[in-house]
Amino acid sequence: MKRVRVRYAPSPTGHLHIGNARTALFNYLFAKHYDGDFILRVEDTDVSRNVAGGEQSQLEYLKWLSIVPDESPENPKDVGPYRQMERLDIYQKYAKQLLEAGHAYKCFCTEAELEADYQRQKDAGVAATKYNRKCLYLSPEARAEKEAANLPFTIRVRVPDHETYEFDDMIRDTVVFESKDIGDWVLMKANGIPTYNFAVVIDDHLMKISHVLRGEEHLSNTPKQLMLYQMFKWEPPRFGHLTLIVNEERKKLSKRDESIMQFMSQYKELGYLPEAMFNFMALLGWSPDSEEELFTQAELIEQFDETRLSKSPSMFDVAKLTWINNRYIKNLSLEQLRDLAQPFLCENYDCHKLDQEWIDDLLLLYQEQLSYGQQIVGLADLFFKDYEIENEEAQAVMASESTQRVAKAFYDNMPTTWDYDNIKATINLVRDVTAIKGKALFMGIRVAATGQSHGPDLVNTLKLLGYDKIKERLSQFG
Ligand code: GLU
Repeated sequence: MKRVRVRYAPSPTGHLHIGNARTALFNYLFAKHYDGDFILRVEDTDVSRNVAGGEQSQLEYLKWLSIVPDESPENPKDVGPYRQMERLDIYQKYAKQLLEAGHAYKCFCTEAELEADYQRQKDAGVAATKYNRKCLYLSPEARAEKEAANLPFTIRVRVPDHETYEFDDMIRDTVVFESKDIGDWVLMKANGIPTYNFAVVIDDHLMKISHVLRGEEHLSNTPKQLMLYQMFKWEPPRFGHLTLIVNEERKKLSKRDESIMQFMSQYKELGYLPEAMFNFMALLGWSPDSEEELFTQAELIEQFDETRLSKSPSMFDVAKLTWINNRYIKNLSLEQLRDLAQPFLCENYDCHKLDQEWIDDLLLLYQEQLSYGQQIVGLADLFFKDYEIENEEAQAVMASESTQRVAKAFYDNMPTTWDYDNIKATINLVRDVTAIKGKALFMGIRVAATGQSHGPDLVNTLKLLGYDKIKERLSQFG
């Protein structure tokens, strides 16, 4: 196999979207598996859609995911520039070659003329309207006249009449398109900017791209690109079109779908771990040769096998993402846990008077159940809000006789050295003196002390709430 060189080619129209991130990720895994190069090329020719900072944002979130390009606008090698708008003279040169070889021609039709003609075709019942080739058939005199008048023109490719474009897609196997279904399309717009299908071929060729792995929305572009490879007599790359990502209702993810967060920025902001996102996305359209679901980046690079890319749509399973993220959080060291969760905690609650040891204990108390960093805010509110009996369930527990008894016994025997072992011993003592055990014992103390019927480990909860608060809250039972 020749050297693997793949590219991720975002248009800088906004933040990194989950679909694009996945495309970048599979390209990256594929390149690294074969010791090849992963290139980032910025496709910024649709100028009106570019947003300021779009390119930076893409790079930033790829970096967050540890998907680092070997070549990019920031790290150029010898096949640059890596932004299409900096390559306009290159496209001009190749458009000229196609014109001279008769594979392309100038089209002077105005937007209004084109519109009117498409409308005529639609009215006549044509489903797939095509350019009517008026300018292909201009007489040499008419063409010369228009050129002399400096009329604006686009450059169109002259699509071969009876050609079959067949390619062996890495995911879909044999795919076939017929040229008769494709109208003469525009290579170069009147403003001298190339269209996507033209620029992409020139760049993929000059950048020595060996494989093009991209979303299935580009499948129908592939015959347009293949015809150019043929005209230039260049060897095309191997194409692979990733299947769609769908939501839990099996509908294509649309950017407006609010049931799923779709931008990497949103996940980062909520305290998802990049390693977990990487792991999750690798399973979105690819499966390993085992039942295993948790992988480091190095393991994924090693195990990646393009023949295991999925042929059917992949469902974005929110519960699975949450599960994976939780598994990664469980494995964090205290320091990493602090980095992830403490900023959320202290942004929402006043941490000034709290010592770090107390905060650490609080974070550790929730580490097992935390699905993402920001979740700590809701989980830990019991340590920050005023005492109140949360709901009817808790009220019923409060009113029960057993609670009255265990709460009083606890109050009467509270240890002055307020540590884990002493609190635990006191609970055992309460059990012995009241002969109330199990759920009635633990739930009684929990609700009396916290006002809530559910929560993390009871002994640690009491310890962190502190002697003074518990004394005060239980005094009503004294
Ligand atoms: N700029 C295109 C996009 O963002 C890239 C398509 C391709 O990979 O060829 O969809």
